[in-house]
Amino acid sequence: RAKLDGYGSVWFYDQKLHDELLYQHRLVDRLAEALDNGEFALHYQPQVSVASGRIEHLEALLRWQPAEGPPISPAEFIPLAERSGLIHRLGDWVMEAACQQRALWRDAGLAIERIDINVSGRQMSRPDIFQRFADCLARHDLGPRDIGLELTENVLIEADDRVLEGLRRLYDLGFRIAIDDFGTGYSSLSYLKHFPVTALKIDRTFVRDAPEQPEDRAIMEAAVFIGHRLGLEVVAEGVENREQLTLIREMHCDLAQGFYFFRPMPALEMERVLGGLVTGHPGVSG
Ligand code: C2E
Ligand code: MG
Ligand code: MG
Ligand code: MG
Repeated sequence: RAKLDGYGSVWFYDQKLHDELLYQHRLVDRLAEALDNGEFALHYQPQVSVASGRIEHLEALLRWQPAEGPPISPAEFIPLAERSGLIHRLGDWVMEAACQQRALWRDAGLAIERIDINVSGRQMSRPDIFQRFADCLARHDLGPRDIGLELTENVLIEADDRVLEGLRRLYDLGFRIAIDDFGTGYSSLSYLKHFPVTALKIDRTFVRDAPEQPEDRAIMEAAVFIGHRLGLEVVAEGVENREQLTLIREMHCDLAQGFYFFRPMPALEMERVLGGLVTGHPGVSG
């Protein structure tokens, strides 16, 4: 009996794995089509100055709304795009869309410093990635200050010499480069010495738990301290309430991003906010 149950659960496990793989396989197929069908869009979420309450820059977040069915989260499709290699086409699309939007908003006179895009590890290891970025900027008559890059801590830790070399060139050109999800990678802090970065984004799990957990607060304080000592801008991700805002203000984080201020929104809505047609959010400046 025990044996039968054992076989049963092995079968069950295989079946589940099989279903999951099949689902992923189909998703990759749909992903490729989705690019051709224009099912992707960038949404924008402001990063707000903690001191002044002003919107400083925007993070572009990729959205996939299939022609039919519910939207699919980037947390789900980005890893699949990475594994299948589609991330290159997807990444090119994101870069192009962000540059186009940046140029449009510049021409419309909307006051934002730049748009930050997320870049994955596999994208960075492409030999011509540097040239692609440079060409895209040039096509839209933009400079390196107009578009920033966010790379997760793990991407930086795993970066080989070629990736680092590419990053170094981008940094030297004046690109702003942020370490995303800081504090969640399996890192020794020494990696911070070598990396050409300009900002550090404290992962939202710390921000979320900081009001209740002294440990999370301690880690955040240490992150702000190190960041500032290294001359980096420090951003708190995932700020959802006033309590968290009070904490990050006390810690002297430079920028805050999160639902408390703005949710990620489509370009048109973002434009209304930037154009001042929609006023602020619950008192940052207070
Ligand atoms: P991320 O770069 O760390 O982006 C922040 C994520 O936190 C976004 O999720 C955003 O919607 C969410 N967020 C913002 N404020 C809050 C908050 O106050 N509370 C909570 N609970 N969440 C908040 P999203 O858009 O689902 O993106 C998930 C991840 O997918 C991103 O994490 C990023 O790693 C990846 N991603 C998104 N767009 C792209 C892209 O264009 N290229 C690449 N390579 N990755 C992307
Ligand atoms: Mg990011
Ligand atoms: Mg992040
Ligand atoms: Mg994150």
